[in-house]
Amino acid sequence: MTGRLIVVDDDPAFATFVAKVAKSCGFASREIHDAATLPSLIAEWSPTYIVLDLNLPKTDGIEILRSLAEQNCKANILIISGSDDKVIGAARKLGLERGLNIVGIAQKPVRANDLAKILTTDIVSLGTDSRPPLQQAIEAGDIFLVYQPKIDFASGAMIGVEALARWRHRHRGIVMPADFVHLAETTGLIDRLTEAVVDVGMAQQSAWNKQGIDLNMAINLSAKNLHHLDFVENIDAACKRHGVSPGSITFELTESAAMDDATQGLDILTRLRLKGYHLSIDDFGTSYSSLVQLQRLPFSELKIDRSFVAECANSKDAHAIVTTISGLAKNLGLKSVAEGIECEACYLKLIDIGCDIGQGYFIGRPMPASELPRWASAWKKRKCA
Ligand code: C2E
Ligand code: MG
Ligand code: MG
Repeated sequence: MTGRLIVVDDDPAFATFVAKVAKSCGFASREIHDAATLPSLIAEWSPTYIVLDLNLPKTDGIEILRSLAEQNCKANILIISGSDDKVIGAARKLGLERGLNIVGIAQKPVRANDLAKILTTDIVSLGTDSRPPLQQAIEAGDIFLVYQPKIDFASGAMIGVEALARWRHRHRGIVMPADFVHLAETTGLIDRLTEAVVDVGMAQQSAWNKQGIDLNMAINLSAKNLHHLDFVENIDAACKRHGVSPGSITFELTESAAMDDATQGLDILTRLRLKGYHLSIDDFGTSYSSLVQLQRLPFSELKIDRSFVAECANSKDAHAIVTTISGLAKNLGLKSVAEGIECEACYLKLIDIGCDIGQGYFIGRPMPASELPRWASAWKKRKCA
């Protein structure tokens, strides 16, 4: 047997169904119908997998997740529930925040094939290889980047790209960052993930440079990357290795990330700016601390959150917010970037408002590096038409 699985569900028929599928995937399994015996079963049997229903009599799923975290449970957890997907999604987020290894969520009813697919995904990590799947993926080069163009509104020219990480998963296909960046942050893998992204991104930038394509590369950072003072040296070393200049790199940080550790963050961000890297405050307007951050940290660019941008052509309020933020950026000597431009009306409105840089599906979707030259010439034609 490859792993030990506990299914917790008050519906005996569903629990038996999960146990049957699990058996076909090589698991030994135990079924329980309420949460009371779960802690002792975990202590006694050390499951590698828990399939958890959120709606149980007496205890709810959130309480169970809290108690699993208190028990320091290391099993892979799959949440399956009849609740709507927003509730399941919120439970997943909570679980991840408490350090649990939530590997998936699913809404009932679940088909046997789909369940088997999810379960076999992590068998890889339960067998001979004890490294977490994400670590295996980073080390195997299964994290790759797609690039989304950023254009200068005044000239219409492409001036850079944002590198966005994807996980090429052996069983699940392409996994989006929403499903692994947080996991990396809570499992101590974020530095390795960022190193991999920096390495792949700079290698690509250097290849483009050799083809005469000169682009700024925006790379997303996590707050946790700023916990190590040698971050700046590591980035510098990567630049040297790839022959890329600091002035052609922009690091994007969310507002909440910039807040995480005020003094150390300020130290690292200031040194990055001194060395010539650009710094962008991402998703601006979505956190409480916006204005404090702008005054305190050495940003050079401000990215207006896409929730405002997407609405700016048809909502007076969103239009007012985008206009104000863009004016604020100008007054502070920062470039303003509008992200999430999905339609022409919005694109034209942003030119009218006076934003500097645009990014969004209307301009170009995130794409593999190989498609960028073709996109660039099509965009040029579109601009001239
Ligand atoms: P972000 O940095 O704000 O990146 C923009 C996200 O918006 C991307 O989602 C992009 O695909 C999406 N997007 C772009 N244009 C549009 C549009 O017109 N409409 C809509 N609806 N969406 C648009 P993605 O690639 O799923 O990335 C999500 C987030 O994950 C990123 O948000 C970033 O915070 C994070 N992320 C991505 N790659 C990395 C990474 O390498 N490291 C870290 N730490 N975080 C990353
Ligand atoms: Mg970003
Ligand atoms: Mg953003």
